[in-house]
Amino acid sequence: MSIKVGINGFGVIGRRVAYAVNKQEDMELIGIGKTSPDYKAKIGIEKGFNFYVPEDSHKEKFNKTGLKVSGSIDELIEKVDIIVDATPGSLGEMYREKYLNAKTPALFQGGESKDLAEVSFVAQCNYENSTGKNVVRVVSCNTTGLSRVLSSIDNVHDISKVTSVIARRAVDPDLPKGMVDSVSLDPVSVPSHHGPDVSTILPDLDIVTMAIKIPTTHNHVHSLIIDLNSSTTPDAIIDTLKNTPRVMLVSSKEGIKSTAHTFDLGRELGRDRGDIYESMIWEDSITVIGNRAYMYMAVAQEAIVLPENVDAIRAVLNTATREESIKTTNDSLCIGGPTS
Ligand code: NAD
Repeated sequence: MSIKVGINGFGVIGRRVAYAVNKQEDMELIGIGKTSPDYKAKIGIEKGFNFYVPEDSHKEKFNKTGLKVSGSIDELIEKVDIIVDATPGSLGEMYREKYLNAKTPALFQGGESKDLAEVSFVAQCNYENSTGKNVVRVVSCNTTGLSRVLSSIDNVHDISKVTSVIARRAVDPDLPKGMVDSVSLDPVSVPSHHGPDVSTILPDLDIVTMAIKIPTTHNHVHSLIIDLNSSTTPDAIIDTLKNTPRVMLVSSKEGIKSTAHTFDLGRELGRDRGDIYESMIWEDSITVIGNRAYMYMAVAQEAIVLPENVDAIRAVLNTATREESIKTTNDSLCIGGPTS
């Protein structure tokens, strides 16, 4: 039997989750919550998606442009087994109440406070914690990227402390928030929210993060400094990362020296939208001095949380084990490498 899935919000993340859910043989995309009848709605309807709106005023806007609305978001919430909420961060509280009242389990995204959900989710770190929960938060792109890499290194090499300095893209490539020409301290105070957010997934990890926002649109880049309780070698860390699900090793020796190249790599791989779902670590940046390891990591912010959203659906409804779900999701999104 298929899992009936609703998506609320059809922006950077919601759109991608919708297309990914639509690829899963064990899921049926029932409908999508959307406010405006723009080109994304038009193309979605051409692809067979059903759209639901928050208010009658939104329905009128759709009707005026000749685009069909299938009902209200309240009706969508009643029809589905689970809803993936990808609305802007500020709407979480309001929608949470609606989902709980309808007894429809919900997944929220990383822009929401951790307190909104019963548990935060990264598939390979804590899949089982979400089973049977009503409200789960798929953590942000940077937290997902960090959690995958650090949990694996910690398991094998025993981390004592992590510092990450993050250069963050200022806006997404579709530029809904305008143009920028500055470097902002984001925030000025230390730590940035990313370190505490990783603690919602890896509570025993000692991590401090700092972040600056830079005027680019493609990818975040982490400068990672990892203190270990024992000595190791770059080759041993490379070996660990090769055996970690959803981590991709990239190399300057193959011409990948910037986020322009990681972005181009996504297009060259021929995936939907050129998306890269893996945490990307520069293999030739991995350096060990004493008990301290250094490396650079890129995070494709629009894409990295996609596989986690798909896995979280199965985790909440308990329809597959962690390994089964990661394998099914990876196969559907053309993600290679290990699944456990
Ligand atoms: P977005 O602004 O691109 O999309 C939000 C969508 O919700 C839009 O389609 C908007 O029209 C719609 N919407 C607005 N009001 C609505 C309402 N009342 N009901 C239903 N839909 C409504 O936002 P996004 O970047 O996709 O972010 C969504 C969530 O994902 C946030 O929590 C964000 O922090 C998180 N996230 C974003 C990124 C990223 O890089 N963009 C990465 C990881 C996580």
